[in-house]
Amino acid sequence: MTISENIAEIRKTLPKDVTLICVSKTKPVELLLQAYDCGERNFGENKVQELVSKYEEMPKDVKWHLIGKLQRNKVKYIVGKVKLIHSLDNIKLLEEIERVYKNKELTAEVLIQINIGCEESKSGILLEDLQELLISCEKCSNVKVMGIMAIIPKGTTKENMMYFKQMKDIFDEMSTKNFKNISMKYLSMGMSSDYTEAIKEGANIIRVGRNIFGEREYKS
Ligand SMILES: *Cc1c(COP(=O)(O)O)cnc(C)c1O
Repeated sequence: MTISENIAEIRKTLPKDVTLICVSKTKPVELLLQAYDCGERNFGENKVQELVSKYEEMPKDVKWHLIGKLQRNKVKYIVGKVKLIHSLDNIKLLEEIERVYKNKELTAEVLIQINIGCEESKSGILLEDLQELLISCEKCSNVKVMGIMAIIPKGTTKENMMYFKQMKDIFDEMSTKNFKNISMKYLSMGMSSDYTEAIKEGANIIRVGRNIFGEREYKS
């Protein structure tokens, strides 16, 4: 299947209010352009350096999403270049985003990444630490929280649905509170293997890589 056929296939199942992010990590710009030519504008990368170099090469109307771990010392490279940072998960990082964006007189839009499966290997904040982070977010002037994101543990369909539902419950709960600087607009969850389930449970951003671009090859 071609990239254009893959995208057409995904679009068939996509409700109007759900945004598809084409996760293009490890893939060359030629392939990203094929997706772009199909009308896709949202692209996701998990590494700052790769995002920045593709940012330079791709058309300027692309909306870039940083979906991977963000090191504090790299915030300065992405300022002004990304639509949404999906991976805010600690106060130190929040403070650095605030500092760097304030310097440039810009506002960062971010999602809080939640480690919903409490997996040690995964980034994301644990639920027990969420409140403290939210209080810090309220003090910011140049960071705006737009919602939450998760990468769920590998599991059965039933387990996936359970984690997605937990995320939706947190999303709804946060929506009822009137936190300053926080507007619950996006629920980013679901990848190639489980995005249809994520949509059923309320995701409005899905992040799909392999189902669009094929398997990734990592150089050793
Ligand atoms: C790689 C990646 C995806 C896409 O995964 P696929 O299984 O290729 O669809 C989604 N979200 C994050 C955070 C990723 O790192």
